[in-house]
Amino acid sequence: MGKRDRWDSSSESESESESNNNNTKDETSAGTASIATAKKKQSNSSTNDRNNNTAAISSLLLPLHNPLLQGCRSVYDTYEQIRHISEGTYGVVWQARDLATNEIVALKQIKFPDDLTKEGFPITALRECSVLLAMSHENVVTVREMVVGDSFDKVFMVMEFMEFDLKQGMDRYNPREALAQSELKDILRQILAGMQHMHSKWLLHRDIKTSNILVHRSGRVCLCDFGLARRYQDPPQELTLLVVTLWYRAPELLFGETRYGPAIDMWSIGCMFGELICRDAIMQGQGELDQVDQIFQMVGVPTKENWPLFEQLPTAHMFRWRKNKDDQPDIYKKFPINAPVSSSQAFLDSNGFDLLKKLLTLDPQHRISADDALRHPYFHQGVKPRTPRFFVE
Ligand code: ADP
Ligand code: MG
Repeated sequence: MGKRDRWDSSSESESESESNNNNTKDETSAGTASIATAKKKQSNSSTNDRNNNTAAISSLLLPLHNPLLQGCRSVYDTYEQIRHISEGTYGVVWQARDLATNEIVALKQIKFPDDLTKEGFPITALRECSVLLAMSHENVVTVREMVVGDSFDKVFMVMEFMEFDLKQGMDRYNPREALAQSELKDILRQILAGMQHMHSKWLLHRDIKTSNILVHRSGRVCLCDFGLARRYQDPPQELTLLVVTLWYRAPELLFGETRYGPAIDMWSIGCMFGELICRDAIMQGQGELDQVDQIFQMVGVPTKENWPLFEQLPTAHMFRWRKNKDDQPDIYKKFPINAPVSSSQAFLDSNGFDLLKKLLTLDPQHRISADDALRHPYFHQGVKPRTPRFFVE
């Protein structure tokens, strides 16, 4: 196959079925190669330094490319496709090799609408690129450059390669074993640090969930997938309600609040925190009404005391809850302090439980911010955070 065909989306189905057939082989060989590299790196840091120096020197010797003068580089001349990673609504993700430096990267090919003349360049892709350019943080995935194919509907975003998303990373742990509290703390701390950076730049993510968090073999955790991200302001302007995957969607969105802010991301992080503890999504609604019902069962129903402005939400009057206001919310039974309910459930001390409750607070005005969450005693008392070991066999 010519190098052009390998990046040709018309040959996508062909390469996809090819990659499906050889999936295990490809994944294993790519995986083994990188695992071997990592092990070598661990065992010999001086070789590592030498290699880094050689890579740095060889990249210095490469002719410099200035995209402002010369335009984006061609994907055919710069990257070799290794395997297909994932295909979502807005893009197709590939693992690839930099032909000049041999580095492994991830390429997200932007999906274009069928009728490009009507719809133009996809807004989600424009958002993703502009948002990523505005950020620079160790817990936000790094974009190296944009590369193009031979027609204007072939545009690729080149990112650092991360081994898994958090959902896949979690599956690498023994399903019957709980995540250590120290690792749980570190994963949450890293997610909050990425989120804090994003919010400090006046950006909302709007699709926080375990498959949009990437995990590096070093234990570094990063936010990714900024297709729904956008700027916000204070006081908030009206924004679309069609955001956030249902199981991670904040109650104010479910009740039609269009003037929402960073608190919606904090609710999603609370849902993920619970998921990391239980190894499964904690509120899996079958539809919006069911999701609301599950939220109320988990954390209790809105009252004048806990959410004074609830009645003013556009669809507040449309929902009648069955639950008795005096029932104890499930959060107390599902996450008992210092007493996990099963062997696969992570240990949660009283600080951890307090933080979980502050993230899963119904009223967005009282929900904890990323800034305050990072200062919470959970991260500074008790068991110290420890780098997660997703790659210990
Ligand atoms: P989508 O809009 O299709 O959800 P994402 O950016 O979330 O796009 O990418 C889809 C999936 O591809 C992610 O869930 C993750 O598994 C994988 N992926 C995305 N970026 C990378 C990367 N830089 N390195 C490795 N895998 C990635
Ligand atoms: Mg995604």
